[in-house]
Amino acid sequence: LAERLQGTLTKIRGKGKVSETDVKEMMREVRLALLEADVNFKVVKQFIASVKEKALGQEVMKSLTPGQQVIKVVNEELTALMGGEQSKIAVAAKSPTVVMMVGLQGAGKTTTTAKLANHLRKKHNRQPLLVAADIYRPAAIKQLETLGKQLNMPVFSLGDQVSPVEIAKQAIEKAKEDHHDYVLIDTAGRLHIDETLMDELKQVKEIAKPDEILLVVDAMTGQDAVNVAESFNEQLDVTGVVLTKLDGDTRGGAAISVKAVTNTPIKFAGMGEKIDQLEPFHPDRMASRILGMGDVLSLIEKAQTSVDEEKARELEKKMRTMDFTFDDFLEQLDQVRSMGPLDELLNMMPGMNKKGMKDLKVDDKQIGKVEAIVRSMTKKEKQDPSIMNASRRRRIAKGSGTTIQDVNRLLKQFEDMKKMMKQMAGMTSGKGKKKGKG
Ligand code: GDP
Ligand code: MG
Repeated sequence: LAERLQGTLTKIRGKGKVSETDVKEMMREVRLALLEADVNFKVVKQFIASVKEKALGQEVMKSLTPGQQVIKVVNEELTALMGGEQSKIAVAAKSPTVVMMVGLQGAGKTTTTAKLANHLRKKHNRQPLLVAADIYRPAAIKQLETLGKQLNMPVFSLGDQVSPVEIAKQAIEKAKEDHHDYVLIDTAGRLHIDETLMDELKQVKEIAKPDEILLVVDAMTGQDAVNVAESFNEQLDVTGVVLTKLDGDTRGGAAISVKAVTNTPIKFAGMGEKIDQLEPFHPDRMASRILGMGDVLSLIEKAQTSVDEEKARELEKKMRTMDFTFDDFLEQLDQVRSMGPLDELLNMMPGMNKKGMKDLKVDDKQIGKVEAIVRSMTKKEKQDPSIMNASRRRRIAKGSGTTIQDVNRLLKQFEDMKKMMKQMAGMTSGKGKKKGKG
């Protein structure tokens, strides 16, 4: 999605107002990208309509290009579509809070049950009881018991000869006796939705009266995830969704559609197989991720507040025309520094973590060295690094307490950096012809 958007961005920058053609063109790309990411087509249609309406005719903020402005709207709307605010897990008025985990086989229910228990204890200081109510999948009980042992948390089970309804009933009694404040019931899944399974889950629900029914959905299954969520929701009135396997390649289409179609908030995201890889789901972060633009909006915000606009414009012009010098470099270094740690800033820039940019990685210590080298240059050298011969390099190395290799490396990096800046300037402002990368 990032590539698509930025491709379009280059076409519509440098204008004062967002025009209808601009928006149309960008929206075509956004639409394709969302469909490619496996977002439900009805959801896409609605979404595009609302973005168009919001973006059109908007006064472009001073420090944003029309393209960035549209992206900002897209980002805001995506966030809203996925629920806006972060949605928290239920807490019952009277302990224990009963949580029932449901979902297809392999979605990640058992793993998530343990992850959730860990999260509740760690972040909310709770004492959950894990309940093994999947009596069908071979070794499912064992799996939960192993996880419980790993967490040093009790797991309630009655083997695989007692019905899940009975297990749930006794587990809740046991939880009351032992003063657990959460009961997490791991249930069975099937490969596909079937009536027997649903009937059983309904019975468990009847008895356990859960405060929360969390539907565990594998994010990698894309469009299927939406159908699954729809049927589970119809039958059980799900109260929240956990999207698992978001650490995989998935483009996040499921996240967008599931919330929009079922109107059930996504509460957690599974980010890996390990027990601590469960995170509260943040719609805004997911939106940025789907847009594939790192944290480009917060970068824009930061830049807005800290960089002097006039100077920034001047600099951009220099970047584009390649007459960016070491003097400018020092000046920019100061400005950038006032924005925060360099690593953080660089990571926020789209394309910065892509291949080919790796050798440009900067850490703050390295920057100190770089600054010393630059400050050891003469005025002439700073303005025109091309005059840098061997004896000048030697002198600079000596003067800055570095080595000739350091100086050489910097000169090389400076050239690379100029090239990169030219690209970035072309991407984010002005009339540069170069197509943005990243
Ligand atoms: P269940 O059948 O729904 O109980 O699914 P399991 O909890 O047994 O999980 C199925 C597989 O998915 C296991 O191999 C888990 O390790 C894996 N899994 C679960 N959640 C995640 C996740 O967030 N990321 C990744 N990469 N794997 C996960
Ligand atoms: Mg399981």
